[in-house]
Amino acid sequence: MESSPPISPNGAASVYYNEETKTFFPTNPIRSITPSYLTVAAQEPSALASPQKLLVILDLNGTLFYRNKNNKRNVTSRPYLQEFLDFIFESCRVMVWSSAQPHSVETMLSYGFDQRSSLLDRVWTREDFRLPRSDYIKKVLTIKDLEFVWEGIELEKKRAREGKRRSQQQIFSKEEKIAETVASLEVLDEKYSIHFDQTNTVLIDDSHDKSQLQPHNCLVLRDFDENLARAGNDDELLRVKQYLQKLVYQSNVSAYMSRQPYDSNALLEDPAPRKLANRRSSTKDHFVIVDPVADHLK
Ligand SMILES: [Mg+2]
Repeated sequence: MESSPPISPNGAASVYYNEETKTFFPTNPIRSITPSYLTVAAQEPSALASPQKLLVILDLNGTLFYRNKNNKRNVTSRPYLQEFLDFIFESCRVMVWSSAQPHSVETMLSYGFDQRSSLLDRVWTREDFRLPRSDYIKKVLTIKDLEFVWEGIELEKKRAREGKRRSQQQIFSKEEKIAETVASLEVLDEKYSIHFDQTNTVLIDDSHDKSQLQPHNCLVLRDFDENLARAGNDDELLRVKQYLQKLVYQSNVSAYMSRQPYDSNALLEDPAPRKLANRRSSTKDHFVIVDPVADHLK
């Protein structure tokens, strides 16, 4: 079992959260898990007859990519990344949330995701942790509070509805724009038709500590580190895909995950061919990013 994360001391700005990795506590105290979260996660899991569209939140570094410790511009994609992306973009709503800075995230996505970065629902970066400036530029523990995501989506939805009302008023004054406007409104309706919460959201990350506020919504996979990147035989993403294929049939993923968390050592039921067939030549297994500012950060 994973041990409890360290408790944030008062005025923790210069106290190590993890001395080994030289990571500091964030300045703002880490809140507790809400009782209502635990109540919903404790409900009895129940299976669905047809799959539901989950919101999958992807971490990048250590999860889908490895950035070389000595030269963070060198990036290696995790094996089976393309197959994994094919699956989740087909079955789920997908967003990225990385603690890297926006320009690093953009570069990793443009190489590693290729055209598919345009299919992402949203891309969140270090700017979306609500960090004070002093923490933004320092190596602090960044916690992915899914409440921020759920609130953020509701806010977007509200703004989109306001925009939609304005567009509808314009339809009658600009006839030539009708078809185009109606089409874009339909896309908006589809985008905001689902209410996301702990029953239908999965964070995929290599860190228990970053997901400590909603631990039963995080699929914590094995850190894709230097050794795994060198060995080249990692098949974790196939295992994650296998787990997600079951999870989409659950009505409350936090209830299911609290009882049957993802296991990096689970057997692959359908071992994939070890040859990476159908690989897209336009995406890269290894690439170099230019990111001098962020070299001391993740
Ligand atoms: Mg990571």
